[in-house]
Order: sequence, then structure tokens, then C-alpha cells
Amino acid sequence: MNDKKALVTGAAMGIGKATAELLAQKGAQVLIADIEEDALQKTAKEIEDMGGKVITAIADISKEKDVRTMVRKAVDEFGQLDIACNNAGIEGEMALTANYSLDEWDRVQNINLRGQFLCMKEEIAAMLESGGGSIVNVSSILGKVGYQQAPAYTAAKHGLLGLTKTAAIEYAQEGIRINAVCPAFIDTPMLERAGITTDEEVKEQTIGLHPVGRLGHAKEVAEAIVWLASEQASFVEGHALMVDGGYTAK
Ligand code: NAD
Repeated sequence: MNDKKALVTGAAMGIGKATAELLAQKGAQVLIADIEEDALQKTAKEIEDMGGKVITAIADISKEKDVRTMVRKAVDEFGQLDIACNNAGIEGEMALTANYSLDEWDRVQNINLRGQFLCMKEEIAAMLESGGGSIVNVSSILGKVGYQQAPAYTAAKHGLLGLTKTAAIEYAQEGIRINAVCPAFIDTPMLERAGITTDEEVKEQTIGLHPVGRLGHAKEVAEAIVWLASEQASFVEGHALMVDGGYTAK
């Protein structure tokens, strides 16, 4: 990673934060982006305190202008963009498909699918300028299997894997590798908000879905992302790597 120029969206907390920290630890310069300004600055300070090189961008990935400005900032400040991790996402409300509101459907697609597409568009353009790079999209086990009462999230995460594969084969010959990770339930603020880690009974039920018998840690997903982004994964293209404690092996 030495001196690679990287960008991570949704990096104020959770998986994005762990990924930005790991990239910085391994010597990359990292632009971290999020909509949560205070939490983002806190993450930046933590990375700086451990000797990492970091810059920040307040960017809502569902807004084309924000995404453009974010990628441009990385290129302007670093000279080029080598690595992008498209991680920002929301859980969305839980409801059966026939009861799912169109507003909520649109909100989830706008961030979890349209937003990821906007990021990829700008990142690929930047990487083409400098002769290549590596993109890792954060999908989910719900990019591979269904989940009751999460129609919008599940559809968006499936869509993201389709987009990953399509862009991967489009740009493979231009030196851009595009892959995805599919985490199962990871102990982050998202699970707290969803009430999964705050209710002991729900937490135990959720743990029981994972053959390894526990929830995942953000750092474990970050390790997979950083590996996919690195030269170690030079022949890995258009892949969806399960980081799921065996969830989808059942
Ligand atoms: P989190 O809520 O802990 O962190 C997500 C971050 O993204 C937050 O800092 C939030 O402010 C930011 N964000 C949200 N909307 C944004 C937007 N429009 N623009 C920019 N930033 C935005 O969530 P997490 O658990 O770390 O999840 C990260 C990614 O991993 C998401 O894409 C999520 O769908 C995926 N994922 C999470 C789990 C899990 O169990 N935690 C499992 C599978 C996949």
C-alpha cells in the first residue's frame, strides 16, 4: 500500500472507518468521505494520531455534485486515485415487500445503488486518467440471498454486484480491477440503529445465523477489502468475496 492514494466513502464509522484506518496503517494516503461531519473529523484525527496521512470530504454519495467534488479533491490533492472503497450505505426500514413505501424504496436505492454507481463513474474516469486502479464495493450477504422485510436493501445490494461484474469486465484491460465484499452481520453502529445489538434476544438470534457463532468485526471486513484492493489480488476481477462467518455456506 506504500504511498497508494485511496478514497473511502462512509468512513466516519463502522466498516468504512476500519478500512480507512487499515489503509493508512499500511502506508496509503486516504481521503475519507461521509455526511457526518463531526464523526468524520474524529476519525481523521484518530488516523493522524497514529501517523496516517488523511484528508476529508463532506460528501453525500447520492448527490452527483458531491461525488464529483470528492473524487476531484482526491485527484487534486494526491495527484491520482489508485484505490476506491465504495462503502457508504444505509440499512433502510424493515417491511414486507407489499407494504414497502415507495419513498423508502427510493431513499435506499438512491444511496445503496445509484450512489455507488455515481461513485464508480467518477472513480473509473479518474483511474483511466492515471492508467489504472482498484475499486472495492461493499455489498452484503443480501447481495447473494434474500432476507425477509428488506426488499429495497436486498435489491440494491444484488444490483451492486451486477454493476461490479459489468464494470469489471469493461475496464479489466485498462488496468482497473473492480471487486466487492459481501459481509454478513457486522458489529457496527448500523446494527445498533437496527436494534440488533441493543436487544439481547435479537442479538442471540442473529448470532445463531452464523456458523462461526458470533457477529463479525469491522476490522475483519477491512482486511478483506484491503486485500482485494492490493496487488496481492492482482488476478482477482469481478469477484464477490463473502466475509460472512459461513452464513451463505449453509
Ligand atoms: P454504519 O452505519 O456503521 O456506517 C455507514 C457510514 O456511511 C456512516 O458513517 C454514515 O454516515 C455513512 N453514510 C450513510 N449515508 C451516506 C451518504 N449518502 N453519503 C455518504 N456517507 C453516508 O454502517 P456499516 O455497518 O459500517 O456499513 C457500511 C457498509 O457495509 C454499508 O454499505 C452496509 O450496507 C454494508 N454492510 C453492513 C453490514 C453490517 O452488518 N454492519 C453487513 C453487510 C453489509
